[in-house]
Amino acid sequence: MADKIQMKTPLVEMDGDEMTRVIWKMIKDILLTPYIDLNTEYYDLGLKHREETKDQVTVDSANATKKYGVAVKCATITPNAQRVEEYQLSEMWKSPNGTIRAILDGTVFRSPIIVKGISSYIPTWTKPITIARHAYGDIYKNSEMTVEAGSKAEIVITDKDGNETRQLIHEYKTPGVVQGVHNLDSSIASFARACFNYALDVKQDVWFATKDTISKKYDHRFKDIFQEIFDTDYKEKFEQAGIEYFYTLIDDVVARTVRSEGGYIWACKNYDGDVMSDMVATAFGSLGMMTSVLVSPDGVYEYEAAHGTVTRHYYKYLKGEPTSTNSVATIFAWSGALRKRGELDHSAELAGFADKLEQATVQTIEDGVMTGDLYILSSLENKKKVDTETFLKEIGLRLEKLL
Ligand code: NAP
Ligand code: MG
Repeated sequence: MADKIQMKTPLVEMDGDEMTRVIWKMIKDILLTPYIDLNTEYYDLGLKHREETKDQVTVDSANATKKYGVAVKCATITPNAQRVEEYQLSEMWKSPNGTIRAILDGTVFRSPIIVKGISSYIPTWTKPITIARHAYGDIYKNSEMTVEAGSKAEIVITDKDGNETRQLIHEYKTPGVVQGVHNLDSSIASFARACFNYALDVKQDVWFATKDTISKKYDHRFKDIFQEIFDTDYKEKFEQAGIEYFYTLIDDVVARTVRSEGGYIWACKNYDGDVMSDMVATAFGSLGMMTSVLVSPDGVYEYEAAHGTVTRHYYKYLKGEPTSTNSVATIFAWSGALRKRGELDHSAELAGFADKLEQATVQTIEDGVMTGDLYILSSLENKKKVDTETFLKEIGLRLEKLL
């Protein structure tokens, strides 16, 4: 065999939990290390090691990502009461994704991997739709109360000199509820930049929508900040790349999306992104086919699969029963990260390997070889359901031919 591909800069590798940890190792053994001299800085985010390090490993891995610029992450358990018992945790550690996101200050982009034979529930969607979700503020950081009859609710802003500005929300003749939400110009601006940078990266249009006709200050601020940043810093770059930025109302974008063929980035406010990403993911088919990348405003990338650790399959695996877990989103997390590393290090060889790995993966499914989740969705006549490891080996056979 020819010499292995060399890597100039280390890739930050964040290992994880359960079935995805099993798959992680298989991907490395079967698809990566035979061809690449893998240069990774390894962080074990498996729950056991998070406990041993009092979760310091998560913080360290995020800081390493800042330093090197690209990371690939395996799915991890977010502990709940049951997990605290199962893993004998000294604390209910926070969601690693939340910790990493807080350190990198990013926007999450999710898009489906499209293959022949597995069609969307919306037949016109022939290209992926990427949801970019703003992950700060609005109702996710709200302050809310129930209100008794006879009460009055007001917004009170106290400025730095102690001056108050008041605005009436409602005088309650009957009981009700009230809620206060906020956002920050800086966070909205980061969100806008992340969307525009990502669009230039993948050469796709950006659609952004809010309800600024009703929310004339709050949502309008989002619209204005996006437009300002676009006009000053991105307009020319978009023209050169042959892509567009397009703003409309949230109702309109929903209608357009259903009629569209896909192939664009849909930038969503926090709540819209929460709701719409579930719709888009479901319409495209399996969770095992959704990729996810966190992009920070200063251009740091963290790639992962959108799904969790697939616990139910892991318990079967532990009992020695065969599993048929879809590894595609995790493979694409690796290929995404390797391609980005290759681009940043000007290694056409590494970026080219990433392309071929993805090609081999898609080819395998299109040849009819797939895991159980896809088997029930596929319209191919020659389809065959295989176990977790066989699926990876089948990809390996095709990759070998492509290289
Ligand atoms: P999950 O791991 O995404 O799995 C939910 C179900 O979806 C599975 O039982 C399976 O359905 C199907 N599924 C998901 N991924 C699949 C794949 N690759 N191949 C085949 N089927 C797949 O979600 P969960 O069970 O709610 O959560 C498990 C753990 O993951 C939790 O501890 C949670 O904290 C963690 N989690 C982590 C992340 C992350 O790190 N980004 C995200 C979400 C959840 P069937 O059982 O019907 O086959
Ligand atoms: Mg949701």
